[in-house]
Amino acid sequence: MEEKWESNVRKVIPYVAGEQPKNRDVIKLNTNECPYPPAPGVEKLAAQMDVDALRLYPNTNADALVEVLAEYYHVSPEQVFVGVGSDDVLATSFLTFFNGGKPIFFPDVTYSFYDVWADLYHIPYETKALDENWKINPGDYRQPNGGVIFPNPNAPTGVFEPLEKVEEIIKANRDVVVIVDEAYVDFGGVSAISLLEKYDNLLVVQTFSKSRSMAGLRIGFCIGSKKLIKYLNDVKFSINSYTMNRPAQVLGVEAVRDDAYFKATTAKVVNTRERSKKELEKLGFTFPDSKTNFIFASHKTVPAKKIFEALRERNIFVRYWDKPRISNSLRITVGTDAEMDALFAALREILPEA
Ligand code: PMP
Repeated sequence: MEEKWESNVRKVIPYVAGEQPKNRDVIKLNTNECPYPPAPGVEKLAAQMDVDALRLYPNTNADALVEVLAEYYHVSPEQVFVGVGSDDVLATSFLTFFNGGKPIFFPDVTYSFYDVWADLYHIPYETKALDENWKINPGDYRQPNGGVIFPNPNAPTGVFEPLEKVEEIIKANRDVVVIVDEAYVDFGGVSAISLLEKYDNLLVVQTFSKSRSMAGLRIGFCIGSKKLIKYLNDVKFSINSYTMNRPAQVLGVEAVRDDAYFKATTAKVVNTRERSKKELEKLGFTFPDSKTNFIFASHKTVPAKKIFEALRERNIFVRYWDKPRISNSLRITVGTDAEMDALFAALREILPEA
């Protein structure tokens, strides 16, 4: 029975994150983390951490991190905003920019947090169906709307849309804010950051969680026009001045500085991904071409749910959603070569001989 006071409660159906098993022995290919450690300098700095400084509040703007990101991406520090993972940056962006009466648009198959934030903040939304190849139809984004958001590459499909298509969507939506969520762009996509010179209503969101191996530290950021970033800061400083903790600010800077390690790590993941595509094909899987650190695969004869459960029994975790359009697909994070070999060996046991 609902108590009287419950009628005043903001009720939401929350996002369900991928499982984080307590047991570290599992092969964890379910939440798109990087299988390699953070840059060596990060480990060194973490060991020398000034614990006494934790008495003090951190810098409210994360200035050092903002500056190193601005330098890296050739923009001004006033164009950079950082948050506690890109989920924080995205949630703050929904609250800040999607405040009109018209529905915001995003793809029907996409990051499953978007509809949660929309519901949380009472933002009307409409989803636009991806085509049979999991591609966006830019024509769908030409109707009046209250804002547009899509990941590029998309999740969970892994499909990358060329910048020309991204620009076509922005051009058709100059009266609203367009957010491109580039959580996976470092694994072979092309960033829309280069379009920022032309479009002051474009916001590009990225994260340290995947390509920079720092999901546990929670660092996300976005780059946009000075005006967009000012509006974001106004909302952030209306909720919590100290979003980013001290260790994250210090270690994040170090991660950006070691560009050679970043490039080497992402290249390793890309190599393993390309090899994994060939192996999965041999095992009877089909999938859209991925430019991310995961592969969205369906088997030609065996249902995804069955494979998901059989892998789980063998302590191999992949991601499965019992949702329209994607209930026969598995999202498999690209792990190390050894982890992927263990996956293929398990699949050879589970699947009927081709
Ligand atoms: N965007 C997309 C498309 C994602 O898949 C994720 C990871 N769940 C995020 C944003 C958020 O990642 P984080 O908060 O770790 O930066």
